[in-house]
Amino acid sequence: MTVNPETAVVRAGGSLSIPSNAPSSPPLFQASSYTFADLEDVEAVYGGTRPGRIYGRYGAPNGTLFEAAMAELEEAEDAVGAASGMAAIHAALAAHLGVGDRIVASRELYGGTHELFERDFQQNRFSVTYVDQGDLEAVRAALAHERPRILYLEALTNPLLHVANLPALATLARESGAISVVDATFATPVLVQPAMHGIDLVVHSAGKYLGGHGDVGAGVVAGPRALIEPIRVFLMRTGATIAHFEAWLALRGLRTLALRMERHCTNAAMVAAYLQGSPAVETVHHPSLPHHLEYRLAADLYPRGTGGIVAFDLRGGRAAVSTFLSALQHIEIVHSLGQYCTTVSYSVAGSHRMVSAEVREQLGVRDGTLRLSVGIEHIDDIIADLHRGLSAAATLRVPRSPQGFADTFAED
Ligand code: PLP
Repeated sequence: MTVNPETAVVRAGGSLSIPSNAPSSPPLFQASSYTFADLEDVEAVYGGTRPGRIYGRYGAPNGTLFEAAMAELEEAEDAVGAASGMAAIHAALAAHLGVGDRIVASRELYGGTHELFERDFQQNRFSVTYVDQGDLEAVRAALAHERPRILYLEALTNPLLHVANLPALATLARESGAISVVDATFATPVLVQPAMHGIDLVVHSAGKYLGGHGDVGAGVVAGPRALIEPIRVFLMRTGATIAHFEAWLALRGLRTLALRMERHCTNAAMVAAYLQGSPAVETVHHPSLPHHLEYRLAADLYPRGTGGIVAFDLRGGRAAVSTFLSALQHIEIVHSLGQYCTTVSYSVAGSHRMVSAEVREQLGVRDGTLRLSVGIEHIDDIIADLHRGLSAAATLRVPRSPQGFADTFAED
């Protein structure tokens, strides 16, 4: 050892040699900072006259790869990764809002977004007006009245799968001078590309379908460069940039997204049809069913299907829900979505926990409403488990007719 052990452990192995031939899959650049050759190099990289990296939070190779992929898939000019879906939503809006600015938002929102609007934005004097995004006249009136900076929408709503009329809503936003922002987490760019319908900014929680394996915490915003750049700078300043490993995982997930979505869509449509035929189920909420409010719109906007989410109202309310959930053997209770495996969540206890019973009723989220995130397993095995749950729930029902409802529904 030519140096002391304290120094040897710091220097041993020398500096990284980057192979001249590229690896066949993207390596993970886990470094939090980068080295410079000399002061001239420092000035050039900071000044943008020489390509180079400075510091992890300012952007790093894996984040850039994921962002480039998302921009391409969304057919948008640019995209920026974020630490989570909420970080992406927060940055997309906050970067474009000034004090006193207004938002018109869908009244059917992911719970976290609703909390952000109610607890942070309203207190910071960004007023938020909620509107039924399916009622285009109401949206037009709210835009005319509020003159908002942002129109905030969800492509497919949680949990009842209402389908936003993206082209019409984008036009209304443009006519009123608002930036349209849509959360397309449930849809993914494989099923719909909101930018192609005139939407300005698209946000995703990348831990859902994009990652696809229930192991990613990340988000992304895609849109025109002029709108993305302020969001990128905001994310850097607030420290909510995407982590290197999460970007690596999210990009890996994207490689199988089209295959997974194809299976999610077909399985979800078959599950919806099966549930529709079950006497234990009151209503099934899925755009593939002709009674769904936006059946035709969904067929136009989502020719490949609307993804893996299916909601349904179980007869018998909370007690039936509890029995149903306990009887399942493979479908896990998970308050998230978009994983390869089928999972179920109970909106009243999860996403809509903070929503009053009265508002839940208005939104159509009932005590018996369950949301399935249908996975990519063989359809027969998914239905067998659902059948187990529904059979158990049916035995709880109070008979409605002399022969009894439960008697008509055989156990496994
Ligand atoms: N948008 C939707 C539709 C979601 O379902 C979620 C989370 O479940 C989010 C945004 C927030 O994403 P994240 O949990 O990655 O912050």
